[in-house]
Amino acid sequence: MPTSLFASPYRTHSCGELRASDAGIEARLSGWVHRRRDQGGLIFIDLRDRHGITQIVVDKADAPQAHEQASRVRTEFVVTVVGVVAKRLEGTENRRLATGEVEVQATSLEILNEAKTPPFYINEPDAPIDEALRLKYRYLDLRREPMAQRLLLRSKLVHAIRDAHHRAGFVEIETPDLIKATPEGARDFLVPSRLQPGNVYALPQSPQQLKQLLMVAGVDRYFQIARCFRDEDLRGDRQPEFTQLDLEMSFVDEDAVMAFVESMIVEVSKATVPERPLLTVPFPRLTYAEAMDRYGSDKPDLRFGMELVNLAPELAGADGKAASGFRVFDDALAGGGSVKAIVAPGLGGASRREIDDLTEAARGYGARGLAHLAVEAEGSVKGPIVKFLGDDLAEQLVAAAGASTGDLVLIVADTEKVANDVLGRLRMDLGARLGLVDENVLSYAWITRFPMYEWDAENERWHATHNPFSGVLPEDEQLLVTADGDPYRPSPRDPAGKARAMQYDIVLNGWELGGGSVRIWRRDLLERSFALQGQSAEAMREKFGAILDAFDYGAPPHGGIALGIDRWAALFAKQTNIREVMAFPKTQSGGDLMLEAPSAPEPEQLAELGLRFVGVKGAATSPSEPVG
Ligand code: ASP
Repeated sequence: MPTSLFASPYRTHSCGELRASDAGIEARLSGWVHRRRDQGGLIFIDLRDRHGITQIVVDKADAPQAHEQASRVRTEFVVTVVGVVAKRLEGTENRRLATGEVEVQATSLEILNEAKTPPFYINEPDAPIDEALRLKYRYLDLRREPMAQRLLLRSKLVHAIRDAHHRAGFVEIETPDLIKATPEGARDFLVPSRLQPGNVYALPQSPQQLKQLLMVAGVDRYFQIARCFRDEDLRGDRQPEFTQLDLEMSFVDEDAVMAFVESMIVEVSKATVPERPLLTVPFPRLTYAEAMDRYGSDKPDLRFGMELVNLAPELAGADGKAASGFRVFDDALAGGGSVKAIVAPGLGGASRREIDDLTEAARGYGARGLAHLAVEAEGSVKGPIVKFLGDDLAEQLVAAAGASTGDLVLIVADTEKVANDVLGRLRMDLGARLGLVDENVLSYAWITRFPMYEWDAENERWHATHNPFSGVLPEDEQLLVTADGDPYRPSPRDPAGKARAMQYDIVLNGWELGGGSVRIWRRDLLERSFALQGQSAEAMREKFGAILDAFDYGAPPHGGIALGIDRWAALFAKQTNIREVMAFPKTQSGGDLMLEAPSAPEPEQLAELGLRFVGVKGAATSPSEPVG
């Protein structure tokens, strides 16, 4: 008989391995007591480890000593059992367990360690548990089957990622965590230096500059499962430290990076969650402008339609001016704004109350109001705005929106940005509510052609929409100039505002899974871009000296991407919070409830670092703080 991979002096098999074909052999198992049923002369124990559960029977008549021990055990005790594997009697098999055809008839049972009563049920996967308790006793939470499964899923994901990259000739390289600030638009975590008093390291927001320097070093293809640190306010898909699949490639254009990443994603998805179909391969590619226009989002969920429709053409009079008769629409269009709609299928019979709720939601998202037209059963169009529009125009709008009998058309008239954003969010709400989303499907898509910069009015500079090193489309390179000619005096009138980046985001089921770019790899152009981003010549030297210098020594064209592994694992595990796929996550205020971090330093530690707290903004972590 082949020995088990898990055999050791404590066990011949794991708790998930024995089958009917093992009947008759002697086995030793070790694990936790998942459940115990005492029927007097017979005690049944479900013995659990990470691999499964095996039923143990302890018969007082056959093994009085084992029975005496078994009567002392409680749930979560750690025990080791020796016994004979026997087929269960017909009709008593447990089909839900892989080991359900057998049981081990104990000849001896030893308690290796006792356990207090756990603060929550470990053997009831669906029992609701306060999340603060789960985080405080995370080692117990991780014993629960759903969490154990998610850790395994994540391990499988990372394994598949490594495999795919090694096969494609990538080199896995670790970059340091104690570095100099590398801006990704968030606040840095700082680590004071003892050996160089008065100076600090920054924890990497990403290995961005280091991976680019590896390209200058000739590594050609780099990847890393990289820990990143960003001191931001936390949300469901954010944590102060998180893990990225970070990669960079030399001698590539956008298509080359996207082609590799796409094939890697397909391979990794099939290896990790083979049961989940990929909606569209090759992945759809949308420009940023198209995504905003059609879905009101730069991370559209393409598992359902409900596209945004522009109603402006229907609302224009013969002279091209808006003349619908409904002031809100006409004013929005006359002011250069938009009137756009989505169709909620089957909601035509929505009650007053439901409409009010939708309007409330739209207001919450920033709209001034929400108009609606219901297509009634007999085909006539109803809604408070019909009296302004007239029946004909109302019917025309409904037709333009693509609505049919029984549907509800929701309309926002506002600036284009607000109309897109509000309808985009309503679309997501309705998609979920109306069950339009197939939860099982994986829908990946690329978003490309992002604007390079956004104007930062407060600091009077251009702000890189993604990352300060992103390259500009070759045809837009001449736009990287200021209006007044002085490269160090950016203004909102600069042609740079129109430049598009060689930037691509990868989206999965409505989440931004990752983003990357082909980089600027010429020093002069990088300096021009930094100047637009408000960096003086001195600041550039000080912050980006290494990379600027490196570009003087022969930098190859290069580009890459980073994908959020926590998000990817969460989506694979059908979770909406990345905490559910992290072994030891933090609370919303960055606290670790188990280790009780952060905590006050020892006075000697501060003295050694030459530091003194002069005032503390905000309160310290307390165990009763909100978790999510
Ligand atoms: N460093 C970028 C980020 O962390 C990703 C990239 O451009 O490769 O978002």
